[in-house]
Amino acid sequence: MLYQRSSQLFAEAEKVIPGGVNSPVRAFRAVGGTPIFVKSAKGAYLYDEDGNRLIDYINSWGPMILGHAYEPVVQAVIDKAKLGTSFGMPTALETEIAALAVKMVPNIDKIRFVNSGTEACMSAIRLARGFTKKDKIVKFAGCYHGHSDSFLIQAGSGAITFGSPNSPGVTAGTAKDTLLAKYNDLENVRALIEANKDEIAAIIVEPVAGNMGCIPPQKGFLEGLRTLCTENGILLIFDEVMTGFRLAAGGVQELVQVNADIVCFGKVIGGGLPVGAFAAREEIMNYLAPLGPVYQAGTLSGNPLAMAAGLAMLQALDRDRSIFTRLAEKTAYLAAGIARVLEANQVTFTINTIGSMISVHFDAEPVVDFQTAAKGDNETFKKFFHGLLQEGIYIAPSAYETWFITDALTYEDLDFTIEAIDRVSKTF
Ligand SMILES: *Cc1c(COP(=O)(O)O)cnc(C)c1O
Repeated sequence: MLYQRSSQLFAEAEKVIPGGVNSPVRAFRAVGGTPIFVKSAKGAYLYDEDGNRLIDYINSWGPMILGHAYEPVVQAVIDKAKLGTSFGMPTALETEIAALAVKMVPNIDKIRFVNSGTEACMSAIRLARGFTKKDKIVKFAGCYHGHSDSFLIQAGSGAITFGSPNSPGVTAGTAKDTLLAKYNDLENVRALIEANKDEIAAIIVEPVAGNMGCIPPQKGFLEGLRTLCTENGILLIFDEVMTGFRLAAGGVQELVQVNADIVCFGKVIGGGLPVGAFAAREEIMNYLAPLGPVYQAGTLSGNPLAMAAGLAMLQALDRDRSIFTRLAEKTAYLAAGIARVLEANQVTFTINTIGSMISVHFDAEPVVDFQTAAKGDNETFKKFFHGLLQEGIYIAPSAYETWFITDALTYEDLDFTIEAIDRVSKTF
């Protein structure tokens, strides 16, 4: 496959957009080469500017759980656009999607809509700090909660109590309020709480990690966090931006029967338009302006086009709950097929899956946290990525990303993918 026009378009983009992209991972820096420019997408497929058709395993990094250009979502956006695209005033539509979300997700009374997952997580910790009147938060190495300052702290070396900024521009003052913990390691969290008695407002966690590959929580991890939070007056925040409305209608809270205090949403909840949201029980949500003292706002929050897309998406998922089992079956089929051909070709690997999320790691050891995720062989991943691209299959251009299975993928697409991986892994 040729990607000539994409390369040209990238060169033009680089002149006027930093790195040619509006979000860094799109630039292919981790795998080399130049990004592919999309012209359109339908169902399971992307169509690029060179006229190639690609089977898509990224799906806009999660939102398109029913496939691209899902008809009811597209129609809802078109219909709404004709009535005006933004008012900055309340609409009935906002109440309709809020009521549906509150019905689908366990343990929440009220929800507020914002414009991205970043905004949702940023607002959730402000709310948690205001509500608990404490400053510090705990986040886990390798978990991603958007690009706001408090979260751009990753594991430095070893077990550090105070985070160190890993992006210039994040001040030391901000970094000192973010404590880093190890995913799937309750003892580590307990020690942090002990060392920062009565200072921690919230623990924020991806209840199934999806931004260091896909890492499900080990048995007892989320339950343990719940207990530690309750015992210490700490709010537990589930960042379900990736997992919400994906792993179950009610997200991971429903899947593992553990209640969070605040839940963040994004991706699927917007049906492919820029939407985020955060939700909690009434007592916490009433702490937000205009009812309470914690300020949070947005000119385009609850935008009618975005709400129409999100509502059409949630309605589809609410109507047909069997979709989540269907997706999990496809994922299991794909995982088994990939394992079969990688084994046959003597490639060292670990595959993690849960529901419609899957990641392939080129390392034999179990991948349970950031440290073990980082061990994967990136040279093999690069060959894997570019090999699949040549076969017309698009996976994320980074070894740390989860693939997303959609309802639009057919078993023929999955078989083609497995056969392609067989061919590509013979060239490692
Ligand atoms: C994608 C993601 C975010 C950030 O959402 P944006 O819409 O990109 O700002 C936050 N948390 C998790 C778990 C995510 O996967």
